Parts: sequence; structure tokens; C-alpha cells
Amino acid sequence: MPKPISQLLSKLRKINNRGYKAYREIEDSFSFENKVIIDFVHIQGDPFASPTKVRLIIPLSLLGYPSYLYSSFSRKYAFEDFILRVFDSVLSRFSRRRGTGNSGLYFVDSGNQEVIPRSDCSIKENILEIRFCMGLPARGRAILSNIAETMIINEIPYSVGAMKWEKLKNFNPDRFVKVVEDFEYIQANLKERGLVAFIANESLLPRRSGVDDRPLNKGVRFYSPPSLEVAFETPNHGIIKGMGVPQGITLIVGGGFHGKSTLLKAIERGVYPHIPGDGREFVVSLKETVKVRSEDGRYVEGVDISPFIHNLPMGIDVEFFSTENASGSTSIAASIVEALEMKAKLLLIDEDTTATNFLIRDARIQRLISKDFEPITPFIDRVRELYSVLDVSTVMVIGGSGDYLDVADTVIALKEYRAEDVTKLAKAIASELPTQRLKETPFMLKDIKKRVILPESFEMRKKQKVKSKGIREIIFGDEVIDVSFVEQLVDDSQCRMIAEILKFLKKQKRKIPMFDILKELEEKVIKEGFDSISGSFSFGVAWVRRFEMASALNRMRSLKVERLSEV
Ligand code: ADP
Ligand code: MG
Repeated sequence: MPKPISQLLSKLRKINNRGYKAYREIEDSFSFENKVIIDFVHIQGDPFASPTKVRLIIPLSLLGYPSYLYSSFSRKYAFEDFILRVFDSVLSRFSRRRGTGNSGLYFVDSGNQEVIPRSDCSIKENILEIRFCMGLPARGRAILSNIAETMIINEIPYSVGAMKWEKLKNFNPDRFVKVVEDFEYIQANLKERGLVAFIANESLLPRRSGVDDRPLNKGVRFYSPPSLEVAFETPNHGIIKGMGVPQGITLIVGGGFHGKSTLLKAIERGVYPHIPGDGREFVVSLKETVKVRSEDGRYVEGVDISPFIHNLPMGIDVEFFSTENASGSTSIAASIVEALEMKAKLLLIDEDTTATNFLIRDARIQRLISKDFEPITPFIDRVRELYSVLDVSTVMVIGGSGDYLDVADTVIALKEYRAEDVTKLAKAIASELPTQRLKETPFMLKDIKKRVILPESFEMRKKQKVKSKGIREIIFGDEVIDVSFVEQLVDDSQCRMIAEILKFLKKQKRKIPMFDILKELEEKVIKEGFDSISGSFSFGVAWVRRFEMASALNRMRSLKVERLSEV
């Protein structure tokens, strides 16, 4: 049972000026007038330690939200995300350093341009729960009770008050929820329409900079070429028209700097919904879309890269290929096979970030270096089979390798950021100027073998930490897992989630089939909540797809796998 808030106040007054550790006395839950509960889940050890973790439990009866805002899965996580963003904006107005270290600061994990289910706001039964962190104030190590009191008695309750419907509705939650719901609607319908992606007319794709994901306001808006235009009749926005990217093989061509990578990047991010005003609200791709790229130096463990690489020097096993130091071509071959193992349905490839020898071996090189001395089966000779045998489509940016015109179903050209359908012209050119190259496939593509994670993958010295650093690194004991090239990880909170998942897998202490467990975890978070993975109150984590979980695992240098005998 929570204690009355008056007890918190008298405790605070008693510990004024005492050493920081005395804050431990408030590690408890307290209620304001038997309504709102504030629960201090974890009190920081000193003013520089990671800040104090707080849960707020607010009865919905106090808030008065109309229930249609959380009546379905997509509405609910959108509305929760919205609440967290508004809560952040209200509370952060009070956030300023008031003492040593993080004294007086608030930290609300409210997300960027993407809308992703998060641990820190949830509506369940009759309550709203918000989680955040705060720096309990001190000068040096001496507790500043007055400031703590202001934070807990004034600032936090004020911010809770701002979550009441009369106030919250002014921020337009309806618009937010409707955008996410229509995004989900389009995503769920892509497949039966024979599409892998959709880019609504008037979308704004370019971003302000490589480090600022907000829209470039002066950018040229996207419009579909007439021949590729499709329409979706959405629940909230009526008919939305735009470019449908068909299944099969699609090339994005055009001169340098004309917006090819920007379009591909938008499709890559189209696995997630975006906030209203982002410009990519209705840029939608299949849930199972995976961007792959070369990444030399990466670790690879037990991947069957034989579809792309054969006859390596020294008889290296390509069906169970492991390396501490992959090359440009072996790294992307491994990344593709790993994506297929997780049952990717759309691969995205940008020529800019792919080893050329992986993409193409042209007629002249074929003549000069015989196939016997070339281990690589270039992607151009597999891309059709990927579609015909495994039902996996590909969208690729091609600036220079015209041989790909032979294998494309759809060719989209970008000229000064405007899209044109040049498929017919491309086909005409392909037959007028045959490339003379020979197809080089030693065998037909088969189903991808599944792998099993061995428990020794997670061995570490006792008490070593598992944590993440921004969006680029996950730290597992002594090891730093570099995920900076995993481009569909979009939020620090997702990396923290992967750290939680590694801890969860470590606890299993058994052989686990990689695909099955990651698919299960992906769904478990949604069904049973984030706390079901960590076994305690999770803070600051967000949902991750199995593809990103696998990407992190696959780059973990202690990973050890064996092949599952039967698929
Ligand atoms: P490419 O891959 O064809 O070389 P990019 O996609 O990298 O070209 O785009 C080149 C530059 O143009 C980038 O700085 C990008 O932000 C900008 N850009 C892309 N699309 C647009 C657009 N629709 N309107 C304005 N600027 C754009
Ligand atoms: Mg580019």
C-alpha cells in the first residue's frame, strides 16, 4: 500500500543536508489524496549516478480520456506515445540543473520522429502509468530537501494535471492517433495489393541533415509517376494516393545527388509510423523490410553464404562461414542470408554502400578472370531467384551498374528529386545494348538454414554489465557490439531494449533456435509488456523487430551457433 504523501514530506525534511545515501529512505511509493501514486523504484546512489527512476500511476477516472483513443492496438500505442511526448514537453520546462551532477533535471524517454511502442507510458485497465527519471538534488553530497520538495510536490503534480483531457486535447491527440492508425492500415494491406512499399503523394522525404532527422522544410515534395500511382481508402484520411512499389525487383536510378538514397532511406524507415508533420506519415513499407550493406571488419558466425560465395581460397567452409573480419562482399553476403533467416520479405540495397564486386561482374571481367578463380556469385545473378524461389523482393539504388536493367521489373528514375517511371525505356535499352555477360549461378537458391544459438555465447565474468551506448553500441561485458551500420535501429531506447534481450537470452542457459526465439520475443513484448522481458520495471526501452535483435546478436563476437539439422 502506498503511504500518504505527508510521510514523504516529513522524511524529506528530516534528511535535509544529510549525506546523499539518506535519500534511500524515500525508496517507496506514496499517494496524493489516495489518487495519484508516485513510486520511487530506484534511488540513485549519488548526484552523478544514473538518475532516480520514478513511476506515476494515475487513475483514468481522473484523466477522463475518451476510450476510442485506446480502443485498438495501434490507437493505444500511438496515444501512449502522444501522452509521453506531451508529458515530456511539460515536465522539461522545469528541468534545470539545481545543484551537483544531475540535481534538478528530468529525463523523459519520449522518442524521435518514429512512433514505436515504449515502456514508459502505458494504459492498462483503469490506470495510466508514466515512467521517467529525475536527478534528486544535492549540493556536493548534501541533500537539498527544499528543491526535492518543489520537484515532487509542485512540478510533477502540475505535469500530471496537464495530462487531464481538458488540457491534453488541445495538443490534438486525434490527429496523432489517426495518422498512426492509417499508417498501420496501409502497411497491413500492402501485400494483398501486390506492393512492397507505398510513398504517398506530397510526402516530404529529405531530412535537415545527417544528424537531424526532422524534415527539410524547403525540400521538394514527392509525387508518384502516373503509371505507378495507387490509392488506399484509409479509415481516417479518406483516399490517399501515391506511388506503389510493386513486388519483384525495383531499381531507383538517376544522377548523383538527385535524391536516390533519400528515397531508399524513406522506404527503409517506412517500417515505422512517423509523427504528424514529419513528412513521411504515409511512407510505408512491409514490416519485413531489411536494409543491407557492406560492413567490412564485421564478425560473422556460422552463416551459409554459399548462395553468394563459393570456392574460397584454402577450402574455407562457405556453408558454415565464420570470420572475425569480413570483407566488403562477404559481409553483405552474410547480412543478406541473416536477413533471409529472419524471413525478410524486402531487401533494400544502395549501390553507394555495397561492394561493387558483390553487385556485378561484367562481360569484360568475366572474359579476363575465369569463374574458376572468382568465388563471388554476384547479386545480379541471384536477385531474380530471391523473388521467384523465396518470394523476397528487392529495391535497389543503382547509379552506375546498367547491367541491372536486364533483371529489373520496375525502374524509377529520379531527376531533380522528381520520380519518373522509366521501365519501358530501360527495357528497350537493355535489348538494344545487350551486355553479353553470362549468368553465373553454380546451383539454385534453396531455403535458408536456421541456426541455433549455443549457451556459451553469453558466458561472461560474474557481475559484468550489459548496457547500451546511444544508438551505435551495445556493451556485453568486455565486448562492444558495434551496431552503427544497422540502419533500421532508430532510437537509443531500442538499443537499451536489445541489451535487455541479451540478458534475457543469457538467462536461458540452453540451445535456442534463433529465428523462433526472436520472433517469440518480438511478440511477447507486445502481448505481455516490456517488464516481461526484464523481469522488473523496465525504463527507457522501446520495441525492436527481430531483424534488429538478430543484427546485434550476429555482430556479437562471442556468438557461437550450430546449424539446426532440420528446417
Ligand atoms: P543520390 O543518392 O541520388 O546521390 P541523395 O538522396 O543523397 O542523392 O540526395 C542528395 C542531396 O539532396 C541530399 O543532401 C538530400 O538531402 C537532398 N535531397 C534529396 N531529396 C530531396 C528533395 N526531395 N528535396 C530537396 N532536397 C533533397
Ligand atoms: Mg546516394
